[in-house]
Amino acid sequence: MATESAGESAGDSASVARRAVDAAPLIDHHVHSVLRDVTEREALERFLTEAGKPAAQGHSYFDSFLGAALLRTCAPVLDLPVTTGPDEYLARRMELGGEEANRRLLGAAGVAEFLVDHGYRGDDLAGVAEFAELAGTKVRRIARLEQVAEAVVAGGADAASFADAFAEQLAAELSGPEAAVGCKSVLAYRHGLDVDPAEPGPGEVREAAREWLAHARNSGELRVSHPVLLRHLVWAGLKAGVPLQFHTGYGDPDLELHRADPALLTGLIRLAAPLATPIMLLHCYPYHRQAAYLAGVYPHVYLDVGLAINYVGYRAAAVLAEALESAPFHKMLYSSDAFGLAELHLMGALGFRHALAEVLEPLLSRDGRSEEEVARFAAMIGSGNARRVYALPAGT
Ligand SMILES: [Zn+2]
Repeated sequence: MATESAGESAGDSASVARRAVDAAPLIDHHVHSVLRDVTEREALERFLTEAGKPAAQGHSYFDSFLGAALLRTCAPVLDLPVTTGPDEYLARRMELGGEEANRRLLGAAGVAEFLVDHGYRGDDLAGVAEFAELAGTKVRRIARLEQVAEAVVAGGADAASFADAFAEQLAAELSGPEAAVGCKSVLAYRHGLDVDPAEPGPGEVREAAREWLAHARNSGELRVSHPVLLRHLVWAGLKAGVPLQFHTGYGDPDLELHRADPALLTGLIRLAAPLATPIMLLHCYPYHRQAAYLAGVYPHVYLDVGLAINYVGYRAAAVLAEALESAPFHKMLYSSDAFGLAELHLMGALGFRHALAEVLEPLLSRDGRSEEEVARFAAMIGSGNARRVYALPAGT
């Protein structure tokens, strides 16, 4: 067509890849809800770092690829130019109000479904139903194993009844119309992935529960971190019949990074193979190549590069390309791991689409694959793998 711009011509493989990726729906399989509102610069900046602390005196977390990507991606959604600075951005966000800002940003993400982990600081964020309403899309829950265990003990279970009470509560989480579609373990945070991979016996679990409850009584701290109990929760998750997500790699300073290397799960992955439960390695960065190897060689292992997509800014395509070096396309999923700021939900989705198009483009220009094939790969990675692995009903 004479009116077609050069960038949209059929021969431009970058545009073709982009079109194929844009047509693919996204399911964000690991994400959190949003804050109802943000009214202070410091509160906004807290979500641009895993540090949990303000930037060094006189500095700003906006001075990063993440900060630059936020302004570039989100300012136009709030009717501002991309050249907007952080203060102007926040002023406009407050003028619109949290609800309107959330609706605009989440809506612009264009995500088909969110699988939400609401077990971390859930009280600070919009509830799951509220988040679904703001996003205008389907939202399903993921059950966080450690939180279920702590709730069972808070509800009165003792050392002798803990295992049964936990099993019962987990079964309840996974049934009914609001059933969680997967479980999640934060073993990496509570101990490290370097645990004995074997399933503990009932006597060991009872004894560990006794130690945990005695410690909880003395310290007033209910957080479960006993390695035997954490292993028990993992095995209960593996036997629950839904995918089991593991936090791996990048996170806040509560974890020791080298003990969050997914390769440390190799023993567990082997032992769990007969169950065929999908093991979902979350985030993975900077160990995404290790995770890709595991996903490449073990049929029940999958990965994403959530969180890193946002944090590495314009380098997202490089990280995604590294993760796809050894993982086949049917093992990669989309996740933003966005938490708190709807900006992160939007940046995750747009950043991922941008990165995926860049990574898949050589299949057209170098390998001679067709647009249809590239569209099929994009659909697989964007949502098809999640829909298959989590057994999500089609088209909801
Ligand atoms: Zn996460």
